[in-house]
Amino acid sequence: MAIDSEVLVVGGGMAGITAAIAAAREGADTRLVSHKASTLRQASGLIDALGYLPATEPAKPLREGPPTAGRNLDPDEWPDPEGPLTDPFEAIDRLPEDHPYRLVGADALREGLELFDDLVGDAYLGGHTDRNALVPTFGGSVKPTARYPASAAAGLASDDRPTLIVGFRSLTEYDARAFADRLAAADVPFDVAGAEVEFAEAFRADAKITRLAKALDRDEPIDGTPAREALAKAVGPHLHDVVDEEGGVDRVERVGFPAFLGDDHPAEVRADLGDRLGADVFEIPMGPPSLPGLRLEDLLYDALDDAGVRFETGTPAVGYAVTDAGDRIDHLVMDRKGSEVPYGAEAVVLATGGLVGKGLDSDRDGVREPVLDLHVPQPADRYEWFVDDAFGEQPYARFGVRPDERLRPLDETGEVAYGNIRVAGAVVGGADVAREKSASGVSLATGLVAGREAAREVQQ
Ligand SMILES: Cc1cc2nc3c(=O)[nH]c(=O)nc-3n(C[C@H](O)[C@H](O)[C@H](O)COP(=O)(O)OP(=O)(O)OC[C@H]3O[C@@H](n4cnc5c(N)ncnc54)[C@H](O)[C@@H]3O)c2cc1C
Repeated sequence: MAIDSEVLVVGGGMAGITAAIAAAREGADTRLVSHKASTLRQASGLIDALGYLPATEPAKPLREGPPTAGRNLDPDEWPDPEGPLTDPFEAIDRLPEDHPYRLVGADALREGLELFDDLVGDAYLGGHTDRNALVPTFGGSVKPTARYPASAAAGLASDDRPTLIVGFRSLTEYDARAFADRLAAADVPFDVAGAEVEFAEAFRADAKITRLAKALDRDEPIDGTPAREALAKAVGPHLHDVVDEEGGVDRVERVGFPAFLGDDHPAEVRADLGDRLGADVFEIPMGPPSLPGLRLEDLLYDALDDAGVRFETGTPAVGYAVTDAGDRIDHLVMDRKGSEVPYGAEAVVLATGGLVGKGLDSDRDGVREPVLDLHVPQPADRYEWFVDDAFGEQPYARFGVRPDERLRPLDETGEVAYGNIRVAGAVVGGADVAREKSASGVSLATGLVAGREAAREVQQ
């Protein structure tokens, strides 16, 4: 039996969730289906809009000799091409013409961020200004980002209070001292030190971040001492580790921890630790598994519920049928526990992600969009996909489906492939989101437009 809705959104990441809520708010009966849980749980939980501008022209392909990314920069046009952007909105006009932000416009980014603010409430900050915040992350020192979790607020790099970064010997992925040294080398306006402390060594065998977070939530005894007290005791001896430029010792005023300070009650855990330490406490976003990412996923899935969107995961799209005229999609075929079930809809938003989310597939023959077999422009010669510079702009990073301004996918002749399809998020080409630091912003802006457009398609 077919399952019908007015708008069907495929993909449960930032773009799909945004599109589904935007469509539902326009009054469309909306369903979201997703293969797997989204990549949000791997992501830092930061909402990047645009942190850096790409070079004016792509670096030369591999065969033509070693390129230098950014070699063609015109200093007048690109006042600070290497540095982080202060204002993402102001920079949009300087992006390449086929960038998703140029297609949907700066207002779509603004409205996408506003929708995000509305969905997450006071769990996130940054919406009071257009300017990027600079947030320390364990992955890449200081990152320009548009929205950050409230748990990271006391750690902003624009704050000049003496700071201690805490690491744990039982969690080996990062080194707090090296991280503090990197921050100091980056000329941050505060004195900083790193300290590796012993805490929860018993968790070493399965040092699962969520287990540590739950132990702090519940203040469970660890080796006989309540978890929060044990953690504060381990950090206490390091509160005078920070040395200022004159060699004096600063009393630490804020303490940064890897992001595992509570799963269900993070604000309470931070406040309690702050009282015990006599300093503001903040979390530093980390790589996967990411608690800020999981917390964000929970918030957004609750928001889907509130918006009246029906959603299911574990349901991959495996096929499709077109209408008799061939210019619209009639239905998608979903794999539901081994049975192929048709899902009919008047409009479909494809938000299946990029190469990471499996919305794009890559093999020796090329990169393809596997659900609707939409056109993905790419040079036939694979040598032109890459440049021989690990830090250069890689052409393949911009591969993806190319849509028009209404986010309808275009075929190889530049015509709209299917009138009732919209694309959103990382499946859309034209942005190098990792390099620009624009991933969530692109998902919010295109998700918002795709969802609204899909709802309008229904109303026509
Ligand atoms: C490790 C990591 C770190 C990140 N860090 C940041 C960061 O610091 N800041 C930032 O702004 N962004 C970050 N991002 C990016 C961000 O989380 C999103 O990945 C990005 O916004 C793209 O979202 P999306 O919804 O387009 O795709 P995805 O999040 O990839 O979601 C795609 C969804 O589509 C589903 N899907 C795919 N194929 C099918 C199918 N055939 N049928 C049904 N469903 C399907 C997938 O299961 C998934 O749910 C990070 C991502 C990763 C992976």
